Amino acid sequence: MKYRINPQNQDELSVLGFGCMRFSRDEKEVEKQIIYAIEQGVNYFDTAYIYPNSEVVLGRVLSKGYRERVKIATKMPPYSIKKYEDFDRIFFTELKRLQTDYIDYYLIHMLPDTTVWNRLIRLGIHDWIKEKKKKGQIRNIGFSYHGGRDEFIQLVDAYPWEFCLLQYNYLDENRQAGVEGIKYAAGKGLPVMVMEPLRGGKLVTNLPKEVESVWNNAHVKRSPAEWAFKWLWNQPEVTVVLSGMNSMEMIKENIRVASETEINAFTDADFNLFKQVKEILDKKIKVPCTGCNYCMPCPMGVDIPTCFSCYNDMEIEGKLASRGKYIMQTSIKNKPHNASLCVKCKKCESHCPQNIKISEEMTKVTKAMEGVTYKPLRFLIKKVMRLDK
Ligand code: SF4
Ligand code: SF4
Repeated sequence: MKYRINPQNQDELSVLGFGCMRFSRDEKEVEKQIIYAIEQGVNYFDTAYIYPNSEVVLGRVLSKGYRERVKIATKMPPYSIKKYEDFDRIFFTELKRLQTDYIDYYLIHMLPDTTVWNRLIRLGIHDWIKEKKKKGQIRNIGFSYHGGRDEFIQLVDAYPWEFCLLQYNYLDENRQAGVEGIKYAAGKGLPVMVMEPLRGGKLVTNLPKEVESVWNNAHVKRSPAEWAFKWLWNQPEVTVVLSGMNSMEMIKENIRVASETEINAFTDADFNLFKQVKEILDKKIKVPCTGCNYCMPCPMGVDIPTCFSCYNDMEIEGKLASRGKYIMQTSIKNKPHNASLCVKCKKCESHCPQNIKISEEMTKVTKAMEGVTYKPLRFLIKKVMRLDK
């Protein structure tokens, strides 16, 4: 494993962090995976108050003698804070779940802008952080972020943060906070943790043939995931890259890549490959949805991430395949979940870290995916699968 030094406190952090949002359901298997990763040198584990069961499972495994070998990062959801006492209520719930009495890296989760931060200030977050730091219950305070560059820079300047976590990958080099945001934060001495290195899997699965061909014909043979990780670790500003790992195979492969990685190792030929791939993908991705689910549930039952996923796959997989997938995925439950159920209430939009105009996009999804055949086909599928019972 390779390590990078946190310039704030000299912590040695593994370049590969274990993202704990999507643990597999088999807890025994998760335990094996976590312990294996720790034995191989992974020492940064990222979870959150809102990730279902994640803190509890992580806490259970780490309590078996591993707590002191790792740094725990977890997060407080700002929208759950209505009064000062809520800070402690959430924080102590997290300590209990994680079976620890301190958090190494504590984040305000998905801080969208200074307006929300100022609301937390009015509720007393400055005093609260000061107290927690004094007691040693929070070692480093930071925030996670998904929005645009300008708001990110304002947030970086709004408080003496000790680290930050943001979405970054080669397709988002100039989107969201992007490379400028990363350089700004690193320039202020913040360790930068990165999430969505594979853009919710979009950079590795169902790739267009042209992209596969670029990677297949590259001067060095690497998987698309390996290229995507190496692009991040090539940059000195990146401290830890989180990967939501939920299979032993994936963990082993990511650890191998992380162990071979170097800063500033890319050649012009490497960068040229990314240029080609980005050009192809940029043309094909219609909606920059990462499938994070923060917009859910929709009061009308629309399965927003699934609708976008099928819509995006249309260019990549072709109309017929993606429409078939759309019908299956929006019809295989008791109630329908398709895009045309959207009534444009926009309740989902403020939760979207990608700032997607979901209601507008739903109109486009409806048009593209729900022709005259959609409803009769859905009726048929439900009959065949006995979902109408
Ligand atoms: S705008 Fe549409 S998709 Fe979003 S919550 Fe409202 S009905 Fe659901
Ligand atoms: S629409 Fe936005 S909030 Fe919803 S899953 Fe996609 S990226 Fe996440």
